[in-house]
Amino acid sequence: MPHTLLWIDAELDALRQAELLRGLKVRGTSQGPTIDLDGRTLVNFGANDYLGLAADERLAAAAKEAINADGWGAGASPLVTGRGQWHARLEAALAEFEACEAALLFPSGFAANAGTVPALAGQGDVIFADAKNHASLIDGCRLSRATVHIYRHADCDHLAELLAAYSAARRRLIVTDGLFSMDGDLAPLDKIAELAARHNAMLLVDEAHATGVLGAHGRGTAEHFGVEEAVHIKIGTLSKALGSAGGFVCGSRHLIDFLANRARSYVFSTAQPGAVAAAALAALEIVRAEPHRRQRLLATATELRTQLSDQGWNVGLSTSPIIPLMVGTPDAAMRLSATLAEQGHFVPGIRPPTVPEGESLLRISLSFAHTAEMIEGLVGTLRRLSPRRAAGGSR
Ligand SMILES: *Cc1c(COP(=O)(O)O)cnc(C)c1O
Repeated sequence: MPHTLLWIDAELDALRQAELLRGLKVRGTSQGPTIDLDGRTLVNFGANDYLGLAADERLAAAAKEAINADGWGAGASPLVTGRGQWHARLEAALAEFEACEAALLFPSGFAANAGTVPALAGQGDVIFADAKNHASLIDGCRLSRATVHIYRHADCDHLAELLAAYSAARRRLIVTDGLFSMDGDLAPLDKIAELAARHNAMLLVDEAHATGVLGAHGRGTAEHFGVEEAVHIKIGTLSKALGSAGGFVCGSRHLIDFLANRARSYVFSTAQPGAVAAAALAALEIVRAEPHRRQRLLATATELRTQLSDQGWNVGLSTSPIIPLMVGTPDAAMRLSATLAEQGHFVPGIRPPTVPEGESLLRISLSFAHTAEMIEGLVGTLRRLSPRRAAGGSR
């Protein structure tokens, strides 16, 4: 390594020492309820494939059909010939699904957040952000050059204080995840929507983990709370429950027209291949036609959370298919993850910087594709490893 880059060795060593170094794995099979990882077959509790659509043949068939018709690459930014028939159809379908006037496709959910927030707020504006927002929202806030005030996680009293204190700003924007990606808890959107209206603030909600999962029609956290009208900017991803790839924003026609002109990650990035949009269209149709997927997923998740907390595990405030086991240190998280892998379950340990210091956890991500036996297997292993057991408790 050239001398000027030697500092990188020291940084890697420091990460290794702190149990924070992450290695790259190769998944040896298609994404699904069981995967081959480093030569082992494991039941996969690490994907965000909530509805089991990532490897669904209907998505692959739709993509193949689009490839046969149009080939692969999009070749340019959407504004400059990159937007084809599949993108346009998907945007129309997303707007209809979300009951919004319009939708705009981005290369990823990360790009949607990183481009949308700075388009909506800039110097002289104030952003109010939940302390546990996703990294892409945090980066969007940083790129905006607005003044950012972080409120304590899901704390509406704190948010109300800040809104009152900064009422003189040119524009005010509240940004929050709907369903928080690591803890599996929900933003109190009913109260946040009320505060946004009272203080004349824009409200942006990132529904990445809730699209296809929560709400009567699977539209996410805002639908779950019955406050869709009050959410001005809704962001979603096609890469989680929808089993495809890409991000989107939906809202009023004028909002979408504005973002197509002003969101830099939209304007200055090549459109996704049309076949990716075709697969997402097929997924959206499945979400509409097969509500039993999300219904069974939510019922199974509720049951699993109850079983695990009865065993003595701390599952935090999760009310969703994302179920954390709070263990504290990176070392404890990685050890438990390794023990579970030895027993055939892949449950990733989550460490800083993904979670705050002291809040390392194991993240169980449930999918419609998990069988009852797979879940019972995990419950059985966790019973033997439970904190209550270790403390010489009742069982
Ligand atoms: C995964 C995620 C994103 C990014 O979406 P991608 O399509 O994977 O880039 C954005 N926000 C949240 C809350 C996420 O969990």
